Amino acid sequence: MLQQTTVAAVRSYFYAFTARWPTIAALAAADEEDILKAWAGLGYYSRARNLKKCADAIMADHGGAFPADLDALRALPGIGDYTSAAIAAIAFDLPAAVVDGNVERVVTRLKAIDTPLTKAKPAIKAEVAAMLDPERPGDFAQATMDLGATICTPKRPACLPCPLRSECAALDQGDPERFPVKAPKKDKPLRVGAAFVLVRDDGAVLLEKRAGTGLLAGMTQVPTTGWNARHDGETGSDAAPVAGTEWRRCGQVRHVFTHFALDLTVWHALSNHRASDGQWWSPASELAGEALPTVMGPAAMHTIRHIVFDIGKVLIHYDPGLPFKRIIPDDEKRRWFLANVCTPAWNIEQDRGRSWADAEAELIAAHPDWAREIRAFRQNWREMVPHAYDGSVAILVELIEVGTDITFLTNFAADTFAEAQTLYPFLKSGRGVTVSGRVQLIKPDPAIYALHTDTFDLDPAATLFIDDSEQNVEAARAFGWHAVHFTSAEALREDLQRFGFRPD
Ligand code: SF4
Repeated sequence: MLQQTTVAAVRSYFYAFTARWPTIAALAAADEEDILKAWAGLGYYSRARNLKKCADAIMADHGGAFPADLDALRALPGIGDYTSAAIAAIAFDLPAAVVDGNVERVVTRLKAIDTPLTKAKPAIKAEVAAMLDPERPGDFAQATMDLGATICTPKRPACLPCPLRSECAALDQGDPERFPVKAPKKDKPLRVGAAFVLVRDDGAVLLEKRAGTGLLAGMTQVPTTGWNARHDGETGSDAAPVAGTEWRRCGQVRHVFTHFALDLTVWHALSNHRASDGQWWSPASELAGEALPTVMGPAAMHTIRHIVFDIGKVLIHYDPGLPFKRIIPDDEKRRWFLANVCTPAWNIEQDRGRSWADAEAELIAAHPDWAREIRAFRQNWREMVPHAYDGSVAILVELIEVGTDITFLTNFAADTFAEAQTLYPFLKSGRGVTVSGRVQLIKPDPAIYALHTDTFDLDPAATLFIDDSEQNVEAARAFGWHAVHFTSAEALREDLQRFGFRPD
């Protein structure tokens, strides 16, 4: 799952996937269609098909267990040089040379290999094979990868604490960042096409299956033209599969495949047209569960019409510990106070609507010696929200500028939220906000998602929610919204692009 993507993007897929198919036998017994549906949104769908083929091969040829042999691992579907070596070394302690991007960087620097990367691969592998510790090949492999990921980073490697510095040729030469040398990039060819999103009165969308071979084989899609290699492909509504319907151009989606970039013009129309053979109407609430590749995902097809932002730790920083660094300078005492007196569980009740006066009275009765510090929590609240996250706010502003429907859904006490809006005027932008303290419900209670949906007349299947809490994200998904887990502005930009938004 982690090929070509980040842990943040994969995490929820991984947990759901391994909970559903916890063993090789379970995966082998699964239906490929179900596996593709569970994979939808992750891209590189051949990995999902290969996982299934690999489980089948292990059941058929290896008695249900991975073989402890490099060549036998290499022969399994979907397992290449890197993965077979990693399994051999890490799972079976076999002396295999594990070379990923991190290891390539460390070794090309250590040995100052200046052949461009693709051609240098055999030399890098030979160096790793010569270096590896035959007693602990798994530890060696993980240590080298971690060194590349954390010390010998692509930009500004931390050479000072690096354990290899005394033998590093690139450091000797004074410019480690020059390595690995990359061959000049060739521009990917551009293909163009059109995708047609036909929406029925009840919100269902017309889908069909792609051919069983070739790119995105067997995946689901909305009707589309061919994706021509030249620039003069059909991108207009003349190419639409249903004539006599009023087509509206909704925008363009750029998707970059391994060997080409694709610009798809997206058209929308309303119709109650009868599905032809091989097509079906998918209810809006089930679209997220269809095996739609990212390029054809609900969002890429501009079926996402509303974005709902969480606020704390997404748009503004929040840390209740900040004023207490001053108020209780002793680290141990402060940690104890925040873990046992003004706890997150106590504070969240103010987000649910309890007044500060009641909250303070209750807590002071239980901890009379801490009365001053307890009162200091509310008194010094502003210090807990010291700055906005500029990167996220820039995205919010860009989305509003291009006409995106934005609302906010936040766990926040009613009075402190009013202060936050004065401090951060962008919290008054968008179409409105649901504040937990005002409605006396808090995330992840499904009732607050339902209330927000009703208040702002959102279509759940066309709604994308952004929150830093995985629990809130999962609850939003369970309610029928699309949702992304916020980790950074950069990752959010990528997520929004995945959903068809290109605010930049
Ligand atoms: S000394 Fe610097 S360049 Fe060399 S391996 Fe260590 S971190 Fe990388």
